[in-house]
Amino acid sequence: MDFYALAWSAGLSLLFFILVFRPLELVFPAKPGQRFFRPAWFTDLCFFLGQYFLWGGLVLWILSHFNGWLDEIVSQTFRHAVASQPWWLQAIEVVLLSDLITYWGHRLQHRVGFLWRFHAVHHSAEHLDWLAAHREHPLDSIYTIGLVNLPAFVLGFPIETLAGFIAFRGLWAIYIHSNVRLPTGPLRILLGAPELHHWHHARDAGNAGNYGNISPLLDILFGTHTCPNHEPEHFGLNEPAPSGYLGYLLQPFLPAKRKDDQLSPTAGETDTAPSQEVDSILADEARSSFRTVP
Ligand SMILES: [Zn+2]
Ligand SMILES: [Zn+2]
Repeated sequence: MDFYALAWSAGLSLLFFILVFRPLELVFPAKPGQRFFRPAWFTDLCFFLGQYFLWGGLVLWILSHFNGWLDEIVSQTFRHAVASQPWWLQAIEVVLLSDLITYWGHRLQHRVGFLWRFHAVHHSAEHLDWLAAHREHPLDSIYTIGLVNLPAFVLGFPIETLAGFIAFRGLWAIYIHSNVRLPTGPLRILLGAPELHHWHHARDAGNAGNYGNISPLLDILFGTHTCPNHEPEHFGLNEPAPSGYLGYLLQPFLPAKRKDDQLSPTAGETDTAPSQEVDSILADEARSSFRTVP
């Protein structure tokens, strides 16, 4: 895609998100009074533009190679058996499997120090809104998008037929970061909501729980669901932020200060010993009354 096409696509998307999400944030604010140009707005705009101009094409290129590699190792007999099912059954299978894999993949991002280094960039946002949803390290995006689409790749779904599903997931991810709290009532058991994901980003709650994306059912099933009836006081990490977009891109590669241990109370458990800071955060978590994460 040439530069002008990318610029049109980025500009139209930006306009669409502002027109859809900004009125919602004004009418149903989760944190009333949060300004449109809140702190770090420009940094998050860089993440947004980076996704469109720098990383989107790279992510698609890597995923198509990943898909080609899976094509070679999955048997054609299996593919034919899958394809012979009714289309609606295949669609349900893909959605359910994709949610299950995303849930556990997300938990791993918080457990494995190496994955947390990249995922921590997303959790560094101190203000949540539709734009903050784009704060994601490109390697973290490849991991997440790869997992979301893994069942479709393995089952042999052509990417074109999944375009709607992928677009919906993308829009949903932006919605759950928006500064919105809608009165969804009993639907909250079935459908995820911004408040659930906001608690996933809560700074003093250990940045854990509510790993599901579209539905909270897996969180309820695996005991990681949490939803107090108010917003978290603070988002982000107990750690000084790098300066600017480039700093965030480089941060996961820096060897400094056993950072992957310090950033997340649950990170590093599989490959490094917990530091004193982690112990103290875990102790705080144990005292917390709403936490249901084991
Ligand atoms: Zn997370
Ligand atoms: Zn998030």
